[in-house]
Amino acid sequence: RAKDAGRGTWRAYTSELTTAARNHLKVATELREAVAQGDLVVYYQPLVDASTGDIIAAEALARWHHSDYGWVPPDQFIPVAEETDLILGLGEWVLTTAVAQVASWRRQGLRLPRLSVNLSPRQLHQRDLADTVGGILAHSGLEPSVLELEITENAFLEEQIRTGGLLDQLHGRGVTLAIDDFGTGYASLAYLKHLPVDRIKLDRSFVQGLPTDNADLAISRSVAALGQSLDVGIVAEGVEGPEQAGCLADLGIAELQGFYFGRPLPAGTFTDFLQSGPRRRPESC
Ligand code: C2E
Ligand code: MG
Ligand code: MG
Ligand code: MG
Repeated sequence: RAKDAGRGTWRAYTSELTTAARNHLKVATELREAVAQGDLVVYYQPLVDASTGDIIAAEALARWHHSDYGWVPPDQFIPVAEETDLILGLGEWVLTTAVAQVASWRRQGLRLPRLSVNLSPRQLHQRDLADTVGGILAHSGLEPSVLELEITENAFLEEQIRTGGLLDQLHGRGVTLAIDDFGTGYASLAYLKHLPVDRIKLDRSFVQGLPTDNADLAISRSVAALGQSLDVGIVAEGVEGPEQAGCLADLGIAELQGFYFGRPLPAGTFTDFLQSGPRRRPESC
């Protein structure tokens, strides 16, 4: 709803942003203020079990409510934040907020087995990241295995991230790791052999054309097989309709995420969603 209402203002913001491209400092400054003033919000999108439709996880997604431009989507501000150290504070804020939210749901008797939080490459250069993450989890009382961190393939282009041992440290604490937007990056698949990857998120560009597009079908089938042989879980992203859902379930993909099962929602609405009864169940195609 907010998105629809804000569509015009987004565009205004987008063109404004292009004009301001020479002036990243302004955006960065506003974003810094936004973080400090609490103008950022975390939305939650469900991930469901492909065979039962049960919610098995939520992905935390940052939103910026700008006083002049309305809702600004993450694609417009995460890249700006990533160019500065701002992403570090923002990323930690999202993590802290989302972990506290899951702990609060749990106190209300609403069990969410897993929380996914996106991590930017710059965060993976923080030597104390594993301690920070460990501290946030300890404070919440949640067991570390509740948390999954999502990293895109391009992070593995950086030698230090591949070999620095930070991913092993995080994994050693019980946090799981997922590769986000799988298939769209530039890294070689070698990282799957050496790094503690628990899950692969098949990018939505390969889900879009299902079940009719032969290339999408071949790619989705191959990724499902890769997951089975490597014993890595697979999530399909961007599932928008029942045909896609059914097709992915038939391919043996265990978890599905997309508008068909639920859009990203603010915590209050997601609470209702967690409480509500029957889910959409994927039907065979
Ligand atoms: P992502 O991590 O791949 O997140 C999934 C994106 O796909 C979300 O976009 C979500 O709204 C969108 N999506 C989900 N289901 C569907 C669907 O069925 N169809 C379509 N067309 N889209 C769908 P969103 O929230 O706009 O976020 C965009 C990207 O911004 C994220 O992609 C992630 O890379 C980044 N991002 C968002 N929040 C954070 C954050 O807290 N930290 C970092 N580092 N990055 C973030
Ligand atoms: Mg993600
Ligand atoms: Mg993704
Ligand atoms: Mg994405």
